[in-house]
Amino acid sequence: MSFSENKKSSVHHVVIIGGGFGGLYAAQTLAKAPVKVTLIDKRNFHVFQPLLYQVATGGLSPADISSPLRGILRQNKNTEILMGEVKKIDPKKQTVQLKYREISYDSLIVATGANHQYFGHEEWADRAPGLKTIEDALEMRRRIFIAFESAEKETDPKKREAWLTFVIVGAGPAGVELAGALSEIAHGTLKEDFRNINTKDAKIILVQSSDRILPSYSPVLSAQAKASLEHLGVTVLTGSRVIEMDNQVITVRRSDEIESIKARTVLWTAGMKASPMAQHLSECTDAELDRAGRVIVNPDFNIPGNENIFVIGDVANYSHGDKPLPGVASVAMQSGKYVANLIESRLKGKTIPPFRYMDWGSLAVIGKHAAVVEMGFLKLSGFLAWVFWMFIHVFYLLEFDNKLIVMIQWAWSYFTTDKGARLITTPGEHPTIELEEHGEKLEKEPLDELEENVVIKNLDSNVTKSYVISNHYVTLENNK
Ligand SMILES: Cc1cc2nc3c(=O)[nH]c(=O)nc-3n(C[C@H](O)[C@H](O)[C@H](O)COP(=O)(O)OP(=O)(O)OC[C@H]3O[C@@H](n4cnc5c(N)ncnc54)[C@H](O)[C@@H]3O)c2cc1C
Repeated sequence: MSFSENKKSSVHHVVIIGGGFGGLYAAQTLAKAPVKVTLIDKRNFHVFQPLLYQVATGGLSPADISSPLRGILRQNKNTEILMGEVKKIDPKKQTVQLKYREISYDSLIVATGANHQYFGHEEWADRAPGLKTIEDALEMRRRIFIAFESAEKETDPKKREAWLTFVIVGAGPAGVELAGALSEIAHGTLKEDFRNINTKDAKIILVQSSDRILPSYSPVLSAQAKASLEHLGVTVLTGSRVIEMDNQVITVRRSDEIESIKARTVLWTAGMKASPMAQHLSECTDAELDRAGRVIVNPDFNIPGNENIFVIGDVANYSHGDKPLPGVASVAMQSGKYVANLIESRLKGKTIPPFRYMDWGSLAVIGKHAAVVEMGFLKLSGFLAWVFWMFIHVFYLLEFDNKLIVMIQWAWSYFTTDKGARLITTPGEHPTIELEEHGEKLEKEPLDELEENVVIKNLDSNVTKSYVISNHYVTLENNK
């Protein structure tokens, strides 16, 4: 008999959508409660998003910052895990719809998170990938290391410079951390690995629309973070907004000035937009959404008029304090825990005190030796802050194996500057790839239907040829 059939009884059924910080903490808090829990996620693993930038820059491997959901919740005998994407919620029938299955709930917790936001320029997504999932991090890693490889092959100094120019848009914690790590790669990790380029010539430009980086931190720490980045060789452009992008150039407006930057690699860490589930919830429950598309929730995290539907973490706008709670992991964890306790108390006919967010502070790391930490009155920067950051991040990694591996990797990379995971493995195409054949310059034309069959035009002779690209080898198939 399956778990679902076995537990089909009067036991209260809590369905949780999303196995990120919010959903997972809710499930863990319900481990001993007299309920049946079904946790549904599109993926079979939980990702520790604060360390995604380390995967993007080759410092850690995907498995170091991810844990299988089944492994984490192995001991929770009242919990089943289903891998699948919830497409639809029916509040009247109290069901959620997976592709081939409908699941009933008594209480529903929606913890589907958020994505990055291109502020109406979705067409920039291909050119400037964001950083939200493991796949995003691998795509960034691919582009970063392809840029160095391409610069090594390039003979034209201007084109080489463009390959060695990296623009990061958005200077919140993720952008700052990415910029610091990229600089560390260029100035440390790779400095002896190439023969035709000096990787220290790489330009790393961090573009931020507001007048300071890390705007959610105090101005003093923002200024210290900026100084640390500049010390690492990063150019910080504050008060600057991206207004245009093409394959070669990114155009930035800075008050009245327009600057065109020739850069082959653009990485996006700006903005936040609620996951599509928020829009669906709004349609089926009349829930109000904020400008970022997040569901505006009651003080108990439920949706007005829907006492048994709770929305937590990044997909929720909780505005019952001075200002809406920020989209950070501690908000997701605490809201998940609170809602789980609330459900259990209600089942016992009890109430619990209103939710109070405990601000555990903000941390951002800048390269290998510096960080900024803000915890109430405590404001730290520099090396001490970096040690603090390191221990906090290792502490919150879910599994002991991950903690151990990450500690070893960091210790190794600290003393050697090495970053072992700098592999170019993921399939996909860089917007325009230049290939060389017998010294001729070739430019790739738009793809054929099949990714592997590529039509390439010789820029000098204007002759077009068809190639097969497989396993990193390019073979001439036939002349046209
Ligand atoms: C690059 C980066 C760096 C960050 N750094 C920090 C930091 O240093 N400190 C900090 O506190 N916070 C940081 N954050 C923010 C923090 O990671 C988020 O606030 C937190 O992950 C939110 O948790 P959540 O549970 O709401 O959503 P998530 O953790 O995003 O989880 C959402 C889950 O829902 C699943 N899902 C989505 N839609 C569906 C669906 N329809 N059906 C099934 N499953 C679905 C997803 O697969 C995912 O597993 C960072 C975020 C990023 C992206």
